[in-house]
Amino acid sequence: MMILVSACLFGKNCKYNGGNNLNSLLTQLLKEEKVLLLCPEQLGGLPTPRTPAEIQEGEGKDVLAGRSWVINKDGEDITNNFIKGAKLTLAKAKIENINLAILKSNSPSCGVNRIYDGSFSAQLKKGDGVTTALLRDNNISVISDEDFIKGENTNESN
Ligand code: SF4
Repeated sequence: MMILVSACLFGKNCKYNGGNNLNSLLTQLLKEEKVLLLCPEQLGGLPTPRTPAEIQEGEGKDVLAGRSWVINKDGEDITNNFIKGAKLTLAKAKIENINLAILKSNSPSCGVNRIYDGSFSAQLKKGDGVTTALLRDNNISVISDEDFIKGENTNESN
């Protein structure tokens, strides 16, 4: 069974600043698994590097419902890129019959249960990123990299 993983967690340089979020412990834990590495923001047509963006009011499900929007630090509305990236990620996950995704915590696309609050001050609020919300809406389980590792460590100690 294939697992969808945020590409930056496996060292792909798709992060907004041109770097990555390599999580060596995660790559080690998944070394026997088949993984599909995707970056929703790149899929949505955004360049790398790019200006960082945050969801303003609400969270990912509100963006999908048209009640909220994604603004980058230059004040540009890039909501459509985020929605397009989420839809393409879902489409690719469905082709591979994926039912588990491990995504990067806090991101406005990939965040799980917590995202940056829209003030560009590194503050978090409750909620999912846009891609996470769409995957969950389509019955794909989503867990953050941090929670996946915590769970694995808990299992090992039991
Ligand atoms: S959109 Fe997701 S995969 Fe792409 S850089 Fe951000 S957290 Fe990583």
